[in-house]
Amino acid sequence: MNELQKKYKTEIEELVNACHRVAELNYVTSAGGNLSVRVADNLLLITPTKTPKRIIHFDDICMIDLDGNVIYASEGKKPTGEWPFHVRIMRKRSDIKAIAHTHPPILTGFAIANNGMLDKPWLPEPITEVGPILMVPYETPLSEALSEQFDAVINNSNGFLMENHGAVFCSPISIFDAVELLNMTECMATSVLVAHILGNAKTITTEYVKEMDSVIRVRNLKMPGATGKYSSASELYGLK
Ligand SMILES: [Zn+2]
Repeated sequence: MNELQKKYKTEIEELVNACHRVAELNYVTSAGGNLSVRVADNLLLITPTKTPKRIIHFDDICMIDLDGNVIYASEGKKPTGEWPFHVRIMRKRSDIKAIAHTHPPILTGFAIANNGMLDKPWLPEPITEVGPILMVPYETPLSEALSEQFDAVINNSNGFLMENHGAVFCSPISIFDAVELLNMTECMATSVLVAHILGNAKTITTEYVKEMDSVIRVRNLKMPGATGKYSSASELYGLK
């Protein structure tokens, strides 16, 4: 174990556990998806390329700076080729501690349909902890163009769908929390889908969305989106 691995042992272990968790939940298959954690102003832990999340272990976790330079990678390992959008998000959102990019089956279905259905207030918890699920237009994986597509929406929520690709969840707390937000939203997407099959699906009314501000205060939650961007849940969802 090198000095940096010793220093960030807890965070690396938490990232390894998050990788195993998203694999168990079937939110990634094989080497799909990538996860990162900010451990210092200019240092990220990030998952390696071409390594199934199910079997990732401590020494596989790479370290990069915010320019994408490799600070640590064990022999034969390389950071995910998707590092550009992780770095871009971390640069634009200083409040974000961790990012989970995965391909959860239901959310990815919504990412293919691209019908804006998940940017609405369907359930209480996602309102206060994630925000509207916003669409990032399709670009080729690993490209700089893909990372640039995040610019237009990154300040406006903590949950995103990548068109015809998958999902991204950003947490101001930890990678454990990012995976919880992902799981919460995948469950919400399943419920929204069932509601539409059953018919008569309705969102929470604007009046009740406004009352979620007191929940955010009482539970001492950070409003989704960039720090200071929104002062109320109704504003977060673009409701008057
Ligand atoms: Zn992907």
